[in-house]
Amino acid sequence: MVIDFHTHTFPDQMAEKTIAYMEQKGNIKAFIDAKRSTLLRSMSDNGVDMSVVLPIATKPEQEQTINRLSERLNGQDDIVYAGAIHPDCADVEGTLDYIKSIGLFGIKLHPDYQGINFDDERVVELIRQATRRGLYVITHAGMDVAFPDDIHCTPDMVLSVLKQLDGVADNKLILAHMGSYDAPDEVLEKLCGLPVYMDTAAVLDLHPEKCAAIIKKHGADKVLFATDSPWFSQRAYIDLLSSMPLSDDEKEMIFYRNALDILKLG
Ligand SMILES: [Zn+2]
Repeated sequence: MVIDFHTHTFPDQMAEKTIAYMEQKGNIKAFIDAKRSTLLRSMSDNGVDMSVVLPIATKPEQEQTINRLSERLNGQDDIVYAGAIHPDCADVEGTLDYIKSIGLFGIKLHPDYQGINFDDERVVELIRQATRRGLYVITHAGMDVAFPDDIHCTPDMVLSVLKQLDGVADNKLILAHMGSYDAPDEVLEKLCGLPVYMDTAAVLDLHPEKCAAIIKKHGADKVLFATDSPWFSQRAYIDLLSSMPLSDDEKEMIFYRNALDILKLG
């Protein structure tokens, strides 16, 4: 079984424009278009049993539209959604209550696209309120190709947030891109072994040996298989993780067991 814990889709009418904009901004090329139907085809072609879509509210005004759509689609066709919330949201508690009430398992933050540092007190409070409600918090971590000179979630910021939260968010925080995009040595030094999950999105092909080292040091029980589709191929990422020098037990945890646990489907 395979669960892809980090994917993005956009409504059909805006998928093409959004991806074209992001391709230009990040100087990257998407592997597939970002339509939900295309993700479904990729899943069935490549043996992905379930995908988790992580929508991002880049402005507080977008939250409601995004979350309403996620409420309608969540769980259909083996695609589940995280809630969208912006740290500048006027009613953080109300929005989190709503996200919880519609049955979503967590929220996605993207400090770069949301124009805020991860260790800002608004983010810390948001994480405190979310985890108090049993919601997981997924954040983009490390450099984003669209903002290469201004990193809004560094390993040091993660350390500061964990310290400020003093155990409140333990095992509820999911750091995308293996803890910090394109900074595996810093992750090995500072983040491995902490009570956080890491996902493999966008980095498995970047430095597979470093990823394997991080998994070994951090523990496979805290790593989630993820691609960041539409940016990367689900097939290629399955092959990459499968070929890593890990035990079958470790691979099963990463491919689906940890995800089932988080999604309360195990
Ligand atoms: Zn992503």
